[in-house]
Parts: sequence; structure tokens; C-alpha cells
Amino acid sequence: MSLEASPAHPPPRKFVIAIDGPAGAGKSTVARRLARRFGLLNLETGAMYRAFALKALRAEIPLTEIAGLEALAAETSINLEPGNEENRVLVDGEDVTGLIRNPTVTDAASRVSVFPAIRAWMVRLQQDMGAYGGVVMEGRDIGTVVFPDADVKIFLDAAPEVRGMRRFDQLGPKSVVQPEEVIGELRARDERDRNRTDSPLKAAPDAVLIDSTRMTLDEVVVTAEAIVAARLAGATSIL
Ligand code: C5P
Repeated sequence: MSLEASPAHPPPRKFVIAIDGPAGAGKSTVARRLARRFGLLNLETGAMYRAFALKALRAEIPLTEIAGLEALAAETSINLEPGNEENRVLVDGEDVTGLIRNPTVTDAASRVSVFPAIRAWMVRLQQDMGAYGGVVMEGRDIGTVVFPDADVKIFLDAAPEVRGMRRFDQLGPKSVVQPEEVIGELRARDERDRNRTDSPLKAAPDAVLIDSTRMTLDEVVVTAEAIVAARLAGATSIL
């Protein structure tokens, strides 16, 4: 496990930061930079849903068949290993980090994540990973379900067009997809995430909302760092 050296303010051991929000809002960048700055582990829960989706696709289990998915989950182990830029994602010991960011797996992850049994399993794994604190956990339901008592909760949002364009820009000049396709895919995922009955994407009542529509990601990071620093300054009683 590689923790970043020299945190600005070593936080209390149990400190948990929850970052939630829709796709393309900048969660990964913010979570990574907060982890680096404050010496915390960064855990990307989306990568876990993606990893399970990859296994389901490989096993050719229909993504609508909960019985099959549940049986698969029962025989699956998923681990996140902290890295400098992103987590290494292991399924049954196999490193699948480079295989889970393509459109097919992205879509499948959004589909398998609607099932309560799959979510309950994932939430348990995530709670175990963060049990000793010292983590920034990023996802859709961290502040509402996984760690409702998190010390800092940030809900990061932005207009769908802006989020879609950020994703499009990340694809680089060689990409063959059009911006409209990226924005459309992102809207479809949002819709599923926001409207599922079990732990839909929504801000926890005590989350700090950051709308990054008119902000650069650097500005978002500075804002998020200030929120965490303020919380730490007031948190001396739990040190
Ligand atoms: O964050 P990322 O885009 O990698 O997540 C992939 C998918 O996994 C999301 O579209 C969402 O449907 C699902 N997810 C979730 N709950 C989380 C993290 C991700 O439902 N905590």
C-alpha cells in the first residue's frame, strides 16, 4: 500500500471523506488530489462495479438476471490496491485495471449496480475497506449509505453538457465518437443512477454541494481542500 508522503495535516486515523456525484463531475480528480494532500487512501467504488460488470460480461450472464448475477457475486472477490493515479483493480486476483474503462463495461456497470443484492455486497466490501478510516471514498452512495457518518461529505455536480464535454476531451483527438454520443451516454447513466429504487444517486442532507459547471477542476480541488481543512481544524477533539 503506497500512501503519499508528507500530508499537510495528518488527519485523525478514522477520518473518512465521502465524494459523491454523477459521472464526469470531476470526482476522481478531486478524490485523488485530496488523498494526496491529506495523506489518505483513495478508493474508487465505481471501479468495483466496473470490475464485477466485466466478470458478468465474460461469463455471458444476462445483465437483467439477478439470480445469475447474485450467484456470480457469491464466488467473486474484488480488491482495490491504491496507486498514484488510480486504483489497481483485482478480480479474483487478476489485474483488470486496463479493461474496465471502455463503453461496454461502463454501460454494464451502470446496469448491474441497480440490483439491491449486488449493492448490498459492494457496500459491505466498501465498509470493510474503509473500516479503519484514513480514506477518501468516491462513488454515488458513499455519504448516504456506505459511510453515512463520514467526517466530510462533498456532492460534486455540473451541467450534463459540461460533464459530457469533459469526458469527450479526456478521450483525446484520436477518438471517433462525437461529443453528442458521450453526453447521451452520460445522461442515460445518470438517469439510471438517479432513478433506481435502491440507494439512488442523491446528495446526503449534510453534504456540501459543489457545482463545478463554471469552475476549472483546479478551482474545485482548491474548494474541496478548504472544506476538508476547515473540518480538520474543527476536528481536534477527535484527534
Ligand atoms: O464512477 P464510475 O463511473 O466508475 O461508476 C461506474 C458505474 O457504477 C456508475 O455509472 C454507477 O452506476 C455505478 N456506481 C454505483 N455506486 C457507486 C459507484 C458506482 O452505483 N458507489
